[in-house]
Amino acid sequence: MTRSISGRTRVVGVWGHPVGHSRSPVMHNAALSALNLNWVYAAFDVPPARLADAVAGVRGLGLVGVNVTVPLKELLSPLLDTLSDEARRIGAVNTIVNIDGVLHGDSTDGEGFLRALAAVGGPSLAGRRALLLGAGGSARAVAFALSGEGCEVVVANRTWGKAQALAEAVSREGRGCASAAGWGEDAGRVDLIVNATSLGLAPHPNAMPALPSRVLDTRPFVYDLIYNPLETRLLQAARHAGCLVSNGLGMLAWQGALSLALWTGRPLSEMPVAAMREAISPLAPEHAL
Ligand code: NDP
Repeated sequence: MTRSISGRTRVVGVWGHPVGHSRSPVMHNAALSALNLNWVYAAFDVPPARLADAVAGVRGLGLVGVNVTVPLKELLSPLLDTLSDEARRIGAVNTIVNIDGVLHGDSTDGEGFLRALAAVGGPSLAGRRALLLGAGGSARAVAFALSGEGCEVVVANRTWGKAQALAEAVSREGRGCASAAGWGEDAGRVDLIVNATSLGLAPHPNAMPALPSRVLDTRPFVYDLIYNPLETRLLQAARHAGCLVSNGLGMLAWQGALSLALWTGRPLSEMPVAAMREAISPLAPEHAL
C-alpha cells in the first residue's frame, strides 16, 4: 500500500558513512508499508566525528530507533544508556532503540545470520566445524552466534592478532570452542565456510579471500555475507566445486526484521520478512542464489 507522511509520522533510519548505497531504506519502507505503520525509514550520512551529535538527535527529536552500519558500529557503546548482552559481548551495536528517551543498544547481526543460514538450508550447527574468514565487526557477531549453537569456529584473518583475539574471546565466552588459523593455511575439514571479510565486495568484485587448498573438496556449505555482487568469486568457486552456497541478502533481511521487532515491540513472527526480502531481491530472478 502507499503511505503518506503526516503530522504523526515517526522516523526510523540507518546511519553510516558513506550510506548512500544502503538497501536498508527500501527494505524497511517495504516492511513499514506491509505493517501499515505511519513511520518512515531514512538514511543519514553520519561521519564518526558527528556520532555524539547524532545520538543526541535521537533523544532530542524522539526518533523511534536507528540502524547503524560501517564505520560506526564499534563506536556507539559508550554513547548509549544500556546495552544488550549480545552488543556487550561482540563490542558492536547495529540497532538503537529509543525507549522513552533511554537509548538501548543491541546487535541483530548474529541472530540474523543464524536465521538466514537456516532459511537457505545451511547445515545443522551443533558439533560441526566452521571456518570463519575475517575478524572484523560482523565476523565477531557470526563467531559468537556459531559458537552459541555449539559449532566449533576456526577464525582466519589477514591480521593474525585479530583472529587470535577473536578466537580467545569466543572460547572464553561462547559455548563452543574456537581457534585461529593462518590466512590461507590448512584449517582441517570444515562443514561451513563463512566469508565475513570485505574481499569481493563491489567495487572490487575480483578479490577473493585466501582459502586453504582442498578445503572445498569435502563440499562445505559456503555463506558469503556480501550481497553486492550477488555472486562473489568465492561463491562462484564454491558453486563450481559442488558446494551449496548463499550470499548475504537473507542476513540483511533477517537482521532488519529483528531490528524492526525491537522497535515495534512485536514478535518476530509478525515481521514481514518475505516482503523485506523481496524488496532487496535482485531485479532478475534468474540471478538469485
Ligand atoms: P570490518 O571492516 O569490521 O572488517 C573487515 C574484514 O575484512 C577484516 O577481517 C579485514 O581484515 C578483512 N579485509 C579487508 N580487506 C582485506 C584484504 N585486502 N585482504 C584480506 N582481508 C581483508 O567490516 P564488517 O565486519 O562490518 O563487514 C565485513 C563484510 O560483511 C562487508 O563486506 C559487509 O558488507 C558484510 N556485511 C554484511 C551484512 C549482511 O547483512 N549481509 C551485515 C554486516 C556486514 P583485517 O582485520 O586484516 O583488516
